Amino acid sequence: MSITTGTLYIISAPSGAGKTSLVKALLDSEALIRVSVSHTTRAMRPGEVEGVNYHFTNREQFTRMLDNNEFLEHAEVFGNLYGTSQKWVEQTLAEGFDLILEIDWQGAQQVRRLMPQAKSIFILPPTQEALRHRLTNRGQDSGEIIEQRMREAVSEMSHYVEYDYLLINDDFAHALSDLRAIFRANQLLQSPQQQRHAGLLSELLA
Ligand code: 5GP
Repeated sequence: MSITTGTLYIISAPSGAGKTSLVKALLDSEALIRVSVSHTTRAMRPGEVEGVNYHFTNREQFTRMLDNNEFLEHAEVFGNLYGTSQKWVEQTLAEGFDLILEIDWQGAQQVRRLMPQAKSIFILPPTQEALRHRLTNRGQDSGEIIEQRMREAVSEMSHYVEYDYLLINDDFAHALSDLRAIFRANQLLQSPQQQRHAGLLSELLA
């Protein structure tokens, strides 16, 4: 059996659009999709787990990794540093898994430049009120932080035009089905299908 290299997906959304829940639900039902665990200097939120949500690190460690060219991309978001491990991305794709990077627009621009074949998806909330409601309901941040995040959200959303796919997270089940459709359609493209079914194709065309 020939080995197929996986597809790299970039998923961006403003904070509170439901990106993480959608990606988690997608991963629960798909064995061949992985998500990259970023490094961040942000403080851990209640309920977060080291190595699952993020690799939590300090600025000194992060800067050392940056100097060693260990990041495929990195960005400063809300005053914290975030970065994606280049080695892990390369290994996971080489093993044939599709890989999701949940990163902001700055990181997305860097990855597109380095890997133009990456597919990018932008997730939007249905309304600004829904976004504010979700940010408030999370109960993890202060009012001042929520207002700051609303401003950042508008700025993040202005980059939607740079993405291949646009998804509106109004109804969760509907948005999940849209997300699945994007992955499925890409898995069915001729080139990866040709590699997966090389035996069948040579038999059919004999
Ligand atoms: P949060 O701190 O709420 O988990 O994430 C804040 C923002 O940082 C989100 O827009 C998220 O997509 C982005 N982010 C998380 N990890 C990375 C990363 O590795 N690189 C970049 N560029 N952005 C990231």
